[in-house]
Amino acid sequence: MREITLVNWGLGAMGSGIAKLVSRKRGLVSVGAFDSDPGKWGRNLSEVLGLKGSTDVVIQEPPQFDLGISDVDIVLIATGSYTRQVVQQIEVAVNAGSNVITIAEEMAFPAAQQPELAEYLDKIAKNKGVTILGTGINPGFVLDTLVIALTGTCLDVQKITATRVNDLAPFGPTVMATQGVGVTVQQFRDGLADGSIVGHIGFQASINLIAKSLGWKIDEIRETREPIVSKVRRQTEYATVEPGNVAGCKHTAQGMLHGRVLIELIHPQQVLPQLEGVATGDYIKIAGEPALNLQIQPEIPGGLGTMAMAVNMIPQVIAAKPGLLSMADLPIPAALLGDAREILAMRRG
Ligand code: NAD
Repeated sequence: MREITLVNWGLGAMGSGIAKLVSRKRGLVSVGAFDSDPGKWGRNLSEVLGLKGSTDVVIQEPPQFDLGISDVDIVLIATGSYTRQVVQQIEVAVNAGSNVITIAEEMAFPAAQQPELAEYLDKIAKNKGVTILGTGINPGFVLDTLVIALTGTCLDVQKITATRVNDLAPFGPTVMATQGVGVTVQQFRDGLADGSIVGHIGFQASINLIAKSLGWKIDEIRETREPIVSKVRRQTEYATVEPGNVAGCKHTAQGMLHGRVLIELIHPQQVLPQLEGVATGDYIKIAGEPALNLQIQPEIPGGLGTMAMAVNMIPQVIAAKPGLLSMADLPIPAALLGDAREILAMRRG
């Protein structure tokens, strides 16, 4: 049985971790890699990932129209956050007959913010008989898939409150910029006003995914964003925060119906919260029958969790019906520990 072939599109903090994880998995093999950074072009993928030995894969400039590699089972995209940023990459992959997993936040449920693009992606995927999925740690798991699964044990649900207190340190420059990590408080406020700082990008996707799965209607989503101001110096691989500057964004969202809050998501994200004694954790409270209270401390690590979700969902995506799907449409995620080819064969039945 031939190995499941992959292309890694985007080799930043997450994409590199995803490619490294692929190299550890039996039955998976990377056959191509793209990044827009010219400094990586022409270099061996193993060397850039810091792995021993060399592979047959040389990192290339991203293609505009033609993937240029045949028989690729799945393209893993880790380049940007918004549907419009990744749609061209998805088009190239789908036109080549490849399935797609992307960690772009909006793509966890693109119909929420980009209904026309979502419809278009669904159409081209169905035409080519392939599947497209947006996933990750969040959106993709903690504040949506895990919440939805938990409600499966409830007779009734009145309200969901879910909180994720996390460390942004594993993420790369793209996330530091959208969260405003390292800037002054004034720059943070200016960034919010001009749209260059947005905080968390997944709330619309998560709230719509939860509501759709439970059969709830939402008529309004309210959001608040506040800077998390650091008292101490914080230094990570991708950011420096001086005392008095911004370590992250406290972002909340409420999914409402007729003025009543049905879904409340609270997500203070910052680099190195432990430097000021802030413990990370994931908390889901369901007011319902029965009332539930799930606590995970410390947080499910965001970087590792994202890499794992992108790779662990590969068999589910390849085995799925064609189209643009969400985490709520697919079998539950599970760690991919055996030979991926055997797990795929099992999933195909
Ligand atoms: P990063 O800034 O470290 O890496 C982005 C990489 O993509 C860089 O190497 C860049 O050169 C490359 N790139 C950008 N545009 C490209 C293009 N058109 N073609 C090829 N390469 C391109 O960011 P990261 O931390 O790796 O995160 C990647 C994206 O995933 C971000 O948008 C981030 O917000 C998102 N993300 C989502 C989740 C989730 O849970 N869903 C989790 C982590 C990150």
